[in-house]
Amino acid sequence: MSAPTGPLLIGSEIYRRSSYGGQHPLRIPRVSTVMDLTRALGWLPPARFRQSPRAKPAALSLFHDPAYIAALQAAEARGHALPDDSRFGLGTVANPVFPEVFRRPATSAGGAMLAAELLRDAGVIYVPAGGTHHGLPARANGFCYTNDPVLAMLVLRRVGARRIAYVDIDAHHCDGVEEAFAGDPETLLISIHEEGRWPFTGHLEDEGVGNCFNLPVPRGFNDSEMRAALEGLILPRVTGFRPDAIVLQCGADALLEDPLSRLALSNNAHWSVVAALRPVAPRYLVLGGGGYDPWSVGRCWTGVWATLTGDEIPDLLPREAQAVLATLPRFRGRPEPQEHMLTTLRDAPREGPVRPEIRARLSHLARR
Ligand SMILES: [Zn+2]
Repeated sequence: MSAPTGPLLIGSEIYRRSSYGGQHPLRIPRVSTVMDLTRALGWLPPARFRQSPRAKPAALSLFHDPAYIAALQAAEARGHALPDDSRFGLGTVANPVFPEVFRRPATSAGGAMLAAELLRDAGVIYVPAGGTHHGLPARANGFCYTNDPVLAMLVLRRVGARRIAYVDIDAHHCDGVEEAFAGDPETLLISIHEEGRWPFTGHLEDEGVGNCFNLPVPRGFNDSEMRAALEGLILPRVTGFRPDAIVLQCGADALLEDPLSRLALSNNAHWSVVAALRPVAPRYLVLGGGGYDPWSVGRCWTGVWATLTGDEIPDLLPREAQAVLATLPRFRGRPEPQEHMLTTLRDAPREGPVRPEIRARLSHLARR
């Protein structure tokens, strides 16, 4: 396989009409919005795009229990869960059996694993469908059926990246990734997530073998506070670790509009982290993650791609791009998008005071 010469985006059409069900937060389009917006803006020429392959069960067994993967395939074929599937966490409100319940996560995992292979020597690859950081070896968990970050990291290791830094700015703690790598001193794990929120792991004191750095943050976490975390935790730790590869999980559910968290970032905060980590290692894999407001997540992740490619984000979106945002489906009970969510990509910055508890936690982590 030839190494890419510039940033690549790995995506698929499977996400366009796939829904976890009418009441589920993942009934909304996300990856298709990114593909449509980047194309409407002229940022995704064919040479920059790769089709995500669907990982085969044998490939998924690098991390997952073959019996669990077989149950996932059987549930998809059958169209519903069996009572016995509860041992795999299948058929729950969070992890329902939906029409693509095997093919969709197998495609995200296949995309992240392909990215890792293409990063054999060096490069920058973006897999917006990736970032399913709650997946467990034999259990669906938190909307995640597979764990593509773990699979990608295992492949990165196999192709020669020894030291891997994983950074996670999703609103939720990366429990599945931490469980997989907390005992591995050649992996650095950094997670910033909302305190007191599901899955209730990732405490400040949870250190793994000294390789895990968890920063729980209070409600209202703002851009200034993310900058303090970037400069006081993420950059010094990742740089000092001298990683061969960086994996960034870029969940968009820490943005102000997100219905599943109470954090208050603007998308500028995400883009700053994406840009800051890029020069720190030769291999850079950027993944998606959570994100449950269709406009907020689509705009954020499209800007992530522009940050990687260097394309300039216009103040006002051209007509074709505005049309993509205008036609996103609206759901009863959700607020109508504000004007700027339909006409721009960049949010207004959401700066604020850096609160004392965040300063205290950052200095606690810096002392380690
Ligand atoms: Zn999340």
